[in-house]
Amino acid sequence: MDYQYLANILFSDVTETPEDMEKKYPPRDLKEGAIVSRMAPSPTGFVHLGNLVQGITSERLAHQSGGVLFLRVEDTDRKREVEGAVEILIKTLSHYGIHFDEGASADGDVGIYGPYYQSQRAAVYHVYAKQLVLQGQAYPCFCTEEELEQMRAEQEKEGANFGYFGKWAKWRDRPIEDIEAKLKEGTPWVLRFRSTGNIENKFKFNDLIKGEVEVTENDIDHVLLKSDGIPTYHFAHAVDDHLMRTTHVVRGDEWLPSLPFHIQLFKALGFKLPKYCHIGPLMKMDGNSKRKLSKRKDPELALTYYKAEGFPVESVYEYILTVLNSNFEDWRRANPDADAGDFKFSYKKMNPAGSLFDYMKLKDVSKNVISKMSAERVYELATEWAQEFDEEFYKLLTADKARSIAIFSIGRGGNKPRKDYAVWSELKGYMGFFFDEYFKIEDSLDEKFDKSLVSRIISDYKDIYSAQDGQDVWFDKIKALGEKYGFASNMKDYKASPENYAGSVADISGFIRLAVTGKNSSPDMYQVMTILGEEKVKQRLAAWASELAG
Ligand code: GLU
Repeated sequence: MDYQYLANILFSDVTETPEDMEKKYPPRDLKEGAIVSRMAPSPTGFVHLGNLVQGITSERLAHQSGGVLFLRVEDTDRKREVEGAVEILIKTLSHYGIHFDEGASADGDVGIYGPYYQSQRAAVYHVYAKQLVLQGQAYPCFCTEEELEQMRAEQEKEGANFGYFGKWAKWRDRPIEDIEAKLKEGTPWVLRFRSTGNIENKFKFNDLIKGEVEVTENDIDHVLLKSDGIPTYHFAHAVDDHLMRTTHVVRGDEWLPSLPFHIQLFKALGFKLPKYCHIGPLMKMDGNSKRKLSKRKDPELALTYYKAEGFPVESVYEYILTVLNSNFEDWRRANPDADAGDFKFSYKKMNPAGSLFDYMKLKDVSKNVISKMSAERVYELATEWAQEFDEEFYKLLTADKARSIAIFSIGRGGNKPRKDYAVWSELKGYMGFFFDEYFKIEDSLDEKFDKSLVSRIISDYKDIYSAQDGQDVWFDKIKALGEKYGFASNMKDYKASPENYAGSVADISGFIRLAVTGKNSSPDMYQVMTILGEEKVKQRLAAWASELAG
C-alpha cells in the first residue's frame, strides 16, 4: 500500500506537518519540577463533586509546584453539550478556589496553546491523523452502523471478544482501489488506529496514585476520527496533552482501561508519555456496602446541593482535602489556624481505591470551619445564602446588622468556640427565636415539675429581671429565686442529696431558657437576654407564665 498516496487523498487539505505543530506549541519554559496539569471537562452543565476532586488535585499539583493549570473544553460530543455549561463550570470552580492560569475562560481563550475548545482544533488533529496514515498506523473504515451491529452479533454467537480487530477488522488491509471507490461514492468513513497489540501480552505501568498496575495490550483498531472529522476522546487526549505540554494527566480511573490504547497512541505519534494520576471514585456507604456516588440516586453529588444547603465553600474544600490526603487531618490538628492552601498536598497520600464520602463528617468539618470564622464573616456568608434561598430570613437578618452580628458573636472566639451549625440552612433553627416571627415554645417542660409552680417562678423572675444587671448579679438573682422555691443554688449540694431539694439552679435556668428561647438548649442565656432586650424578655416570661397557669 502506498501510504503517501492514501494520506494525500484522505487529507488533501492538510498542508501543515507535525514539525510545524511543534513550533506552534513549543515546550513550556518552566522551572524544574513544575507540573502542568489541566481539567478537561465535557460541557454537560452538571458540575459535581468528582469535578471538584479532580480540580483540587490538579490545581494543587500545578500551583504547589510553580506550574500551570489550564482548562480545556472537550466539546467533541455535540449531543451532550448544554448551552452556558462552560461559564457555569468556570464560575463554580472559581467559587471553590480553583482558578485557571490558562485556557478557556469567561472572556475567551487565554494562552498560546489554544484553541482550548476541542471543536475548534480539527485542523490540528488532522495533521496528526495524516501522519499516522503516512506511517501505516491508521486507515479509513467505511463500515456502516448495520455492518458493525452484525459484526457484534456474530462475535456474540461465536463467543469471541467484541470490537473491531483481527479478522473482524474488514477495512484494515483493503486494497487502495476499494478505498477509492468508496470515497468516490461519498460513503462516510472513520479513521481507525492500526493496532499491533496482542491481548496475550500484559505489561506493568506506574500510575502515580494507583501505583504499579498490570494492564493488557490493546488489540482493537479504535476510532481516531469520527465521520465528521471530529476526534474521539483518545486521539484528542494524545494530541492535545502533548501539544499543550501537560506533564500530569489527572483524571477519573474510568479511563484506566483505555490506558494501553493511549500508550500506543503516544508512541505511534512520537510523543513523550505524560505522567498519569488516575483518581478512584467517590463512594458512599449504602447499608453495609460501599457504592459509587451516582448522579441519579445521590443529590449530594451535585455541587449545587452544597450551595443550597448553605455549606461554606471553605468547608467543602477542607473536607475534600480530608478525603483526598490521609494526612490532612493530622496537619489540621497541628495547624488549626493555618490556611488550607498551606497544606502540602501529595498524590502519594491519595487512596488508590477511591475515597469514602461521609456526609456527617463533612458536617463536622463544616462546624469546625464556621466556629473559627469571625461573626462578621458569618453574617456576610449567611446573608448571602439567605438572600438566594430564604428571602424572609434574609430580611430579618439584615434589618439590624449590628444585632445579627451580636447574635453570631455569642460563643465565638476563645479556645473552645461553640459549634452549633454546619450549614446556613440550620441557622434559623438555631437562632430563629431572636425574631418574634419565628419564636414559639418548641420544647416542653419536664413533666416532673408542677406547671403552676414553674409559672410562679417565671412570673417572679419577670419582676426581678433587669437588663442593667451584670452577669454576676444576673446569676445571683436566679440562684436566690431558686432558693426561695426550694431549689439548690449550689450544684454540689444538690448532687450530694437531691432528695432535699425541689431541683437545682440549673432547672431554674432551664425554665427561663424555655420561656425566652422556646428551647431546652441554647447559647449563653445572659448574652441571649441582653440581645433580646428587657422588654422582649419580660414579654416572653409573662406570656409563658400565663400559659402555664392555664
Ligand atoms: N472529558 C473527559 C471527561 O470528562 C476528560 C478526562 C480527562 O481529564 O482526560 O471525563
